[in-house]
Amino acid sequence: MIIPADRPRTASPIELTLRPEQRSRLRPLADRPEGSLAIHEIYRSIQGESLYAGLPCVFVRLTACHLRCVYCDTPHAFNQGEFRAREEIMAGVLALGDHLVEITGGEPLLQPEVFGLMEQLADHGRKVLLETAGSIDLTPVDARVHIIMDVKTPGSGEVASNSDANLDRLKPTDELKYVICDRADFDWSVAHVRSHGLVERLSVVFSPAFGQVNPTDLAAWILETRLPLRLQLQLHKQLWDPNRRGV
Ligand code: SF4
Repeated sequence: MIIPADRPRTASPIELTLRPEQRSRLRPLADRPEGSLAIHEIYRSIQGESLYAGLPCVFVRLTACHLRCVYCDTPHAFNQGEFRAREEIMAGVLALGDHLVEITGGEPLLQPEVFGLMEQLADHGRKVLLETAGSIDLTPVDARVHIIMDVKTPGSGEVASNSDANLDRLKPTDELKYVICDRADFDWSVAHVRSHGLVERLSVVFSPAFGQVNPTDLAAWILETRLPLRLQLQLHKQLWDPNRRGV
């Protein structure tokens, strides 16, 4: 099912200060039945990013995003999906059987029901990873959830969406991810890391924008800094066709 992009917006999914064009991007979430979430896909794969890379994982990809990063590799999640009751999602995820479950999108925190879903998954003994763009308040996220938060670089086109307040809400076990689009992005990111004292507080990952930055160059740049930055390549894009969905 495709959720129509021109569906009239009748409900506010979450309190956010949005520009008009961003508000229109939330239309796929309007008219959600109570207790349901707009889900793009649920599938098993190998975790391709994060400190958990390489492990089998169930991915729950939620529909819609208020941002438009230039390198986004999941634009199909902007509008496509179907409304599913939380209990149905829970049953589907548990049936797939893996210990690791990643909640991703789109931007999963646009749908408030996701906080209860993550809590319920943790109650069932699952290790829950949350991948978020970082602009929505992380306060309601269950403390058992491992948060992977983006810091948007100038090259992403969405640097204005960053929330410094969210940096202070992260736990020492969480991680920050910078997608590096070019050398200027790298220099901006290193300055951001240093000015906020981030490597002293948690894991910081630098990932080359796929097809834009040579990973070997990024490795050399990281070594120059003498900072404990973690180079991350997208494992799933090496294992499968980079354009393939559901992996
Ligand atoms: S925040 Fe994520 S899903 Fe949204 S546009 Fe950026 S890369 Fe795509």
